Amino acid sequence: MGQRTDVGILGATGVVGQHLIAMLADHPWFRVTWLAASERSAGHRYGDLAWRLPARLQPEVAALHVSPLTAVADAPPLLFSALDASVAGEAEVAFAASGRHVVSNARNHRMDPLVPLLIPEVNPEHLSLLDHQRRARGWTGSLVTNPNCSTIVIAMVLGALRQFRPTRVMVTTLQALSGAGYPGVASLDAVGNVVPYIGGGEEEKIETETLKLLGRFESGAIRHADFVVSAQTTRVPVPDGHTAVMSLELAAKPSLEEVSAALADFSGEPQERRLPTAPPRPIVLHTAQDRPQPRLDVAFGGGMPVHVGRVRRCPVLGYKLVAMGHNVVRGAAGAALLNAELMVAARATGADADRDARPVAAGGKVQAHQV
Ligand code: NAP
Repeated sequence: MGQRTDVGILGATGVVGQHLIAMLADHPWFRVTWLAASERSAGHRYGDLAWRLPARLQPEVAALHVSPLTAVADAPPLLFSALDASVAGEAEVAFAASGRHVVSNARNHRMDPLVPLLIPEVNPEHLSLLDHQRRARGWTGSLVTNPNCSTIVIAMVLGALRQFRPTRVMVTTLQALSGAGYPGVASLDAVGNVVPYIGGGEEEKIETETLKLLGRFESGAIRHADFVVSAQTTRVPVPDGHTAVMSLELAAKPSLEEVSAALADFSGEPQERRLPTAPPRPIVLHTAQDRPQPRLDVAFGGGMPVHVGRVRRCPVLGYKLVAMGHNVVRGAAGAALLNAELMVAARATGADADRDARPVAAGGKVQAHQV
């Protein structure tokens, strides 16, 4: 194993922050050396705070003391942000301006025209925005975001079907409780219930982020895709795993067999570069009529693949299917980790402009300043 790069986590005490710590435990390129959260947690030894995952907390991480967000100068060069949106906006800019590379889960900067909203399998070329970001903002660091946890499931499907030219998409989500953070939805509201509203502009996020993700990088800017998405979102008493029930219109009118093959064969830069967190197959296509199911499928492959099943004709829009993905892994912690891996690999194999399909050199040493 080469020398590992020191990384920090902003919002290390929350649902996403804890999953990041768990996923980084044996990471070949990164090691967690710095943690930050609110004033409530700052100053405490991390191991003395509540750890809510079944994975064992590493003693080296348990021994770290939590910093406040004001300790900008102490932070390592690469930071994962799992901050609450109420503070992420300003904090992430402060860290990027101070030379840190911030890979964020928060919604605040996702639609900023100078901030890549990235799914490495879908739009790796959007990373080229970083040169424009640094010049326009005068930052020595950078800021990259991953999409909303439902959007990522939907955008992976549309990324796989992009060659069939989607024109209209209707989607209803059934979203897990962990998507609301900790402690999240009150148990009396959640148990035995379906809540037909998710705050924070969830439906608008799906409708707009998807178009940026599927947009083209042209002349230094992202031109959003021009199809339309209509989303309805619900909260259901499932621990992990957001389900998206989708109907789509595809201008190219492919056969069902062609749609299924495009989903099953979907692959991208993370697979070509063999990034450490990349699932061998980003989409798992199910043929059983009763799949995907969060309980049965969400943990497969460490939670990184998106599952798709029930591909069939829709009498209204032409095609319909059911997609499901782990909201905290593929939709948050794993998404940020894959983004950071792509950023490092891009520089490790040449400049951004040369981000071709060459795999990362085995055991390649990467330094955070190369990000
Ligand atoms: P969470 O469990 O509520 O954790 C929030 C984190 O932010 C905690 O570490 C908390 O620290 C910190 N924080 C809150 N107020 C703060 C303040 N005033 N100053 C500094 N730190 C503060 O939320 P989460 O579910 O992990 O989500 C984290 C971010 O990822 C959010 O922006 C969320 O929208 C996004 N996201 C979540 C999911 C998901 O499935 N959960 C998916 C995609 C994106 P303390 O513990 O010290 O309060």
